[in-house]
This record gives sequence, structure tokens and C-alpha cells, in this order.
Amino acid sequence: MAHPFSLEGKVALVTGANTGLGQAVAVAMAQAGADVAVAGRSTPTETQALVEATGRKFLSIQADFGAIEPVQRVIDETVSAFGKVDILVNNAGIIRRADSIDFSEADWDAVMDTNLKVVFFLTQAFAKQILKQGGEGSIGKIINIASLLSFQGGIRVPSYTASKSGLAGLTKILANEWAAKGINVNAIAPGYFDTNNTEALRNDADRNASILARIPAGRWGQPGDLGGAAVFLASSASDYVQGITLPVDGGWLAR
Ligand code: NAP
Repeated sequence: MAHPFSLEGKVALVTGANTGLGQAVAVAMAQAGADVAVAGRSTPTETQALVEATGRKFLSIQADFGAIEPVQRVIDETVSAFGKVDILVNNAGIIRRADSIDFSEADWDAVMDTNLKVVFFLTQAFAKQILKQGGEGSIGKIINIASLLSFQGGIRVPSYTASKSGLAGLTKILANEWAAKGINVNAIAPGYFDTNNTEALRNDADRNASILARIPAGRWGQPGDLGGAAVFLASSASDYVQGITLPVDGGWLAR
């Protein structure tokens, strides 16, 4: 019998995997046995080398997730290269920081479109493909990369908080609709991770110190800290897990 955390024979599609958390998740999927397609704007040269070093197959798909235009093509290119797709990780995301009193419509729309609207329509296209492929039991796994701001308010990031709180809700409604069809829909809420997304916070000495003082683990998360949770939610080990947003936060939310 296959190990419950094995992804042997599976195909994972990860968005925004040229760097940061997406790259770490793509590599963790490959280490667990999956072939990996990554979709995004930038050429994922480093991710390709890391995935291929595990012996798994790799596909790069050019896509700008600022609008829904590429979503069907991304699914089609994955299926045309690998014959199917089993796992979708909605990782690509952006953040804009400004006082809410001055926040612009452009910063609202850009974040909501990338972090929520495009995620919904890519997920819809993925689910249609999974239902077309058919099969028994758990036949598709969706993992949304949410945030602590799916639970908390944050500060100076109104569209980001709205998008990530919305993403936790979307995770639940899609689980409600699709659990009986064999599709698992869950999310991961990373705490404070050392990536481009949080560079401004780490460069602000006061914010950096106050963030570190609140994390029970006493350190920023490293991208590799996310891999285990992603493999769990992609594997048969989580077949009866539905609609959760799993914090991986060094204990932040426990404080
Ligand atoms: P990152 O290093 O900035 O990576 C973001 C990824 O999203 C990059 O691959 C980026 O590609 C891609 N992306 C952004 N806009 C895109 C677009 N229009 N089309 C295609 N790809 C696009 O940040 P990260 O920290 O790894 O973030 C990954 C996810 O984790 C995001 O959803 C973020 O909100 C979430 N998250 C991060 C933290 C943290 O502490 N770091 C905490 C909670 C949640 P390009 O390089 O081409 O822009």
C-alpha cells in the first residue's frame, strides 16, 4: 500500500512558484513524488533545477494572474503535458501597503483580482477538469495559500486582509459544494515568513522586533517550513479534511 503522505503518480500545479513559499511548496510536492507544473509571470529557473534534482518532471507555464484570461489555458497546458492534474496550489499573491484613509482603488483592485477573483476562476477550471477526469474517492486536492489576515485584521493592508479573509470563506464554501464530489478544498495560513512579500517589515527595525517578540517559536518562518503542511493537504492523509485554514505560524495565533 502507498504511504499516506506519498504523492507518487500525482501531478501538482502551483502558481507563483519562481520564489518564496510557492517555490518551497513546489519542491516539497516533488520530494513527495509528484510531477510539478508551475504557472506565473517570471521564469522559474531555480525552481526547475530544484524540482528536477528530485527526479520528477517539471513544466513552466507563462501566465499573468492579474486577470482571469490565462486560467483555462494553464489547466489545458498542464493536462496536455502530463495527461492530467490532481493538485492545485493557489499561491500567487500580492500585497499593497498604505493607510486605509488614503488607499487607492488601483491598490484595492489589483490585490482583490490576483488574490481572490483569479483564484476562484482558476479553481473553478481545475475542478471542472477533475470532474472530467473522474475516479473514485478523493480525486482532487485544492490548497489555497491564505494568511494570518484570514483570522486577524492587520494594519495598512485593507485589500490584502479583505482578500485573504475572503479566501478562507471561499475555502469553506467550495469544500461544502465539492467534498461529496471527491474534491478536498483547504487552505494554509502562513505566519511571518522570510520572503519578498515581507521584506518591508523585516527592513523596519521596530516592526521586525515587535513581530519577533510575539512569535512563540522566536524566529521568522523559512519557506521550507510550509512544505509538510502542503504535502499533508495534497496527499491521501488528508482525505477527510475539508474547509480548514491551517495555520503554520510558529504559534502566533496561539498568543
Ligand atoms: P513572494 O516572494 O512575493 O511571491 C509571490 C509569488 O506570486 C511570486 O511567484 C510572484 O511572481 C507571484 N505573483 C504575484 N503576482 C502575480 C501575477 N499577477 N501573475 C503571476 N504570478 C504572480 O511572496 P511569498 O511570501 O512567497 O507569497 C506567496 C503567497 O503566500 C502569497 O499568496 C502571499 O500572500 C502568501 N503569504 C505570505 C506570507 C509571508 O510571510 N511571506 C504570509 C502569509 C501569506 P512574480 O515574481 O512574477 O511577481
